[in-house]
Amino acid sequence: MTNIKPYNGTEPLHKLIKRAALFERKKQPNELCQTYLHVSRYYSEREIDTDKAFDYAEKASALAELLNDDFLRVDCLYAKAVVERVVGNVAYALTLLQNALQILHRLKKDEKVMREQAGIFYRIATLFFKLEELKQRMFYLRKAYKLFKLLNNEQGIGFCYIVAANYYFRNKDYERAIKYNLQSTEIFTRSNDRTLIAGNKNNLGNIYMELQQFDKAAENLKVAIEYFDSNQHGKSMALMNLGDCYMQQGMMQEAKRFLNKAYLISRKGKLKYVLYSVLELQAIWLLRQKRYKLLSEKQHEIIELKNEFFEKEKAKSQKELELRFELQEKDKEARMLKQRTAEMEAYTHKLEMINNELKTFAHVASHDLKEPLRGISSFVELMHRRTAGKLNDEEKEYLNYIRTNTQRMGNIIKDLLEYTQIEMGERSTNYVDVQEVVNHVSDILKAQPENTNVSIHAEKLPNVRANQTEVERLLLNLIANGIKYNKSDKPEVQISAKREDGFYHFMVSDNGIGIPKQHRKKVFEIFQRLHSRNEYSGTGIGLAISKKIVENHGGEIWVDANESGGSVFHFTLPA
Ligand code: ADP
Repeated sequence: MTNIKPYNGTEPLHKLIKRAALFERKKQPNELCQTYLHVSRYYSEREIDTDKAFDYAEKASALAELLNDDFLRVDCLYAKAVVERVVGNVAYALTLLQNALQILHRLKKDEKVMREQAGIFYRIATLFFKLEELKQRMFYLRKAYKLFKLLNNEQGIGFCYIVAANYYFRNKDYERAIKYNLQSTEIFTRSNDRTLIAGNKNNLGNIYMELQQFDKAAENLKVAIEYFDSNQHGKSMALMNLGDCYMQQGMMQEAKRFLNKAYLISRKGKLKYVLYSVLELQAIWLLRQKRYKLLSEKQHEIIELKNEFFEKEKAKSQKELELRFELQEKDKEARMLKQRTAEMEAYTHKLEMINNELKTFAHVASHDLKEPLRGISSFVELMHRRTAGKLNDEEKEYLNYIRTNTQRMGNIIKDLLEYTQIEMGERSTNYVDVQEVVNHVSDILKAQPENTNVSIHAEKLPNVRANQTEVERLLLNLIANGIKYNKSDKPEVQISAKREDGFYHFMVSDNGIGIPKQHRKKVFEIFQRLHSRNEYSGTGIGLAISKKIVENHGGEIWVDANESGGSVFHFTLPA
């Protein structure tokens, strides 16, 4: 549990830093986080070093994340919001507080959560004070007030009265402003919170000044000065107001005295915003007293301070500029990416077109070559018949060479045409009885004289949703290859299937010569053959056609070896 007291804003910095070091040594991250928050608050309340205030809030944030503690997260967001407000980023401060509210919203609504919520509502209400959105300010203030009431939290109620008093003051409803001011003073008197009483007295002094009741104003401001104790910020403000009060009454010596005091404290404490107001009042004083030489010196000081502010503003706008540049760069990157995507799309489109053209070319060429080739082969056959017994051995060999090559060319053209047709033709799918297909293919193959001792076995093959002609072609290719690439006396091909995730997995296994591992991918490419034509005839297109058929159905095809060293062709088709 934490042993940290809530920070009351008056503890000196060196004590806080010392405590932080202690918690760091003792490895107490929770306490360290809270102390960092106090340090951050110290810096932002005094406006001496907002960068440090921010750094400490960040350090605390890191610890809150490490501890995964939502309450600490809320406190850190709060601390950051305070810093942002001090440097003038009111809208961002508001966002941070709204984030904090979101965190609290997720938590179970117990007393602690409500207390935090009330605190944040309150803080938002004070933020809108800067945004000049008075209506919203009252909206959040009422929310805070209701929760504080529910929690019986007097101090919170007192804070709400302060904000209400300010609201009416700005609306020039001084009567109500005084009423709420007194109500909150009453509360803080009960809790003996001197700084808060001092703040109220200072505000009351301002109200009376507006009402031109200078005696009452001075009376309250004096109490404020006394009650602010060591709070330099509050003290210098109250002193300045008192100086102003005297000046408004024409009591110039008193005015000078208090303005000087305010000047010294704000200068020493580097309270720039107060110092600026003090300087302006001093300048008015010098003008009224016709002390022109001193006035010009004072104005010089004002300009210097203004420049300092300006430098800060400049740094801020430099940061903004950098940010904008970063955004522009990101924008540029996004545009380039878009352009590249467009280029890629155009390139893909071009490739598709070329591919289609090639397919059409292969299709048309093979189709158109069929006719002249048929002409050549019929005349070669005619010549073969007419010249029977009239040719010498050499001439016979030449003619045979022409005959076999025209046949080969015919086969290639036929296969190529089929290959191109698979993709170009319209395909219809039906339930195909694969068992029946295998029986049919088996009949065709066994009818060939060289296949008399071949055996083809199939075990209860299923139905698949596919194109009948293509499935026939696929199985014909695979079974025929199993018989062709086979040196056994009794070539055997086994076809089986099993169901696997919405697909049927078929296997066509043979007792043939097998395919070496390194070639098992290559054989599916068009024109890829592992043997010379003298060894085994073929065009090298069959497996490319098979692959296309399977893939067009959304399946896969591959090959490996079986125990006998033969090949097993696997393929899947949708069930
Ligand atoms: P083709 O049989 O017309 O040469 P394929 O595309 O059907 O063309 O087959 C490509 C190559 O794959 C064949 O040349 C052959 O070397 C090899 N092959 C195909 N099936 C088998 C098989 N069952 N056993 C051994 N090798 C095979």
